[in-house]
Amino acid sequence: MEIYNYMGYELLEKIKKKEITIQEVVQSTYDRIESTEQLLHSFVNLSKNKTLEKAKEYDLHLKKSNLAGRLFGLPFANKDLICIGGFPTTCGSKILEGFRPPYNAFVIEHLLKEGAIHIGNTNMDEFAMGGSTENSSYGPTYNPWDLSKVPGGSSGGSAAAVASGQSIFALGSDTGGSIRCPAAFCGVVGLKPTYGRVSRYGLVAFANSLDQIGPITKCVYDSALILEIISGKDPLDSTSVDKKVDKYTSELKEPINKKVLGIPKEFFGEGIEKEVKKSVYKSIEKLESLGTTTVEVSIPHLEYTIATYYLLCMCEASSNLARYDGLRYGKVSDDLSSDVYSAFSRTRGANFGPEVRRRIYLGTYALSAGYYDMFYIKALKVRSLIRNDFVEAFKKCDSLVCPTMPSTAFKVGSLIEDPLEMYTQDILTCSINLAGIPALSIPCGFDSNNLPIGIQIIGDYFDENGILNIAYQLEQELGIYRKTPPLKAGGS
Ligand code: GLN
Repeated sequence: MEIYNYMGYELLEKIKKKEITIQEVVQSTYDRIESTEQLLHSFVNLSKNKTLEKAKEYDLHLKKSNLAGRLFGLPFANKDLICIGGFPTTCGSKILEGFRPPYNAFVIEHLLKEGAIHIGNTNMDEFAMGGSTENSSYGPTYNPWDLSKVPGGSSGGSAAAVASGQSIFALGSDTGGSIRCPAAFCGVVGLKPTYGRVSRYGLVAFANSLDQIGPITKCVYDSALILEIISGKDPLDSTSVDKKVDKYTSELKEPINKKVLGIPKEFFGEGIEKEVKKSVYKSIEKLESLGTTTVEVSIPHLEYTIATYYLLCMCEASSNLARYDGLRYGKVSDDLSSDVYSAFSRTRGANFGPEVRRRIYLGTYALSAGYYDMFYIKALKVRSLIRNDFVEAFKKCDSLVCPTMPSTAFKVGSLIEDPLEMYTQDILTCSINLAGIPALSIPCGFDSNNLPIGIQIIGDYFDENGILNIAYQLEQELGIYRKTPPLKAGGS
């Protein structure tokens, strides 16, 4: 087996036992990138030279001492909107070309402290706005299972990199599904933590009341391990919660036979592909065979989630993105000494892509005097109703189980001209962000075109332990997580 095909925890074992060097591990991911990047385009920037030096330094350290961090020598890819001091960070946008943040994000600090090695930043929809990674100013990423399909988004580069062995794990961000959607489309594990579990210090904001950072990994064990390391209170992010971080890896093997799983009936409604439903139902049967009981629950306001989510995220985005004017942030592409306001708008017009501009227009409109109550305030009220639906559902069960996406990966170019249709793809993911609860996606099967299908497990507030436990048991039962993608274009 190639080195890049091992799980993260297996490589850590091998490094610890000195069966393999860190240089070999890092080199293997770079070799893999070299041979596949032209097909996939998962990365926007690589940090090769520095990284190989770091690997050498770490190997020398291991020769002298057994003291090493929990991720010592493990390569990771970072979504291009999480700041790494001195490393180019573009958020998939032309407007941030050449920007190098002056500091590390909280999550990066924690990964580096444990010895993880950053190999590069991954491609994404511009400012995380999208579900296919086609909205990147640097061109799309392609799905390793079928190169004619999208990898999902907005963390499509991260998911494609992990699925194809270009990286052992990656970071993503999830505002309305951007970790879980690409995880489902690329056949990997993607976890969105509870709002407040992971600090957003150093994450470039899209919609602050929804954004969370989370891991994208090849297996559930790695996901639990990374979450353990990046979680916790951060004085620099006032929305991070001061709550003890569970030892997520230690409860994965606990039996789940006492668990009650809620099946939210609206998540299996119209518009969900037959093959997706079938595969998810099969997994539910497997979970039942492990002793869980299932009960039907309802999220009655699910039909309002797309409208509510898009209104709120556009409002927040229009305000967050006001800083990119070429003066405070962003590249200067106009003469700011003349009429400064028209110079701002020319800079923004020339450097933001069409989806970002659309969201700024709509968000600004919805927040304007006269419309604020009608749109923004109303959406906030509906958000409370959606949150209450989940609170009610969790009175009857421990976790919810449903599909992650309504379909498997779609063709590159097929939805890009139809933003409303693209938005409806988030129907099963964005309500979770509105409620602020945790959810993860793991692969549960393949459709007739050999494209991965994702099952979503949703937890109550701060019950990451519970959903990881169920996911781990299901993953072991299904036994498909080691399947690797063919990196070819498919038939349909
Ligand atoms: N697809 C959603 C959107 O375009 C989700 C994005 C995200 O989670 N960052 O807003």
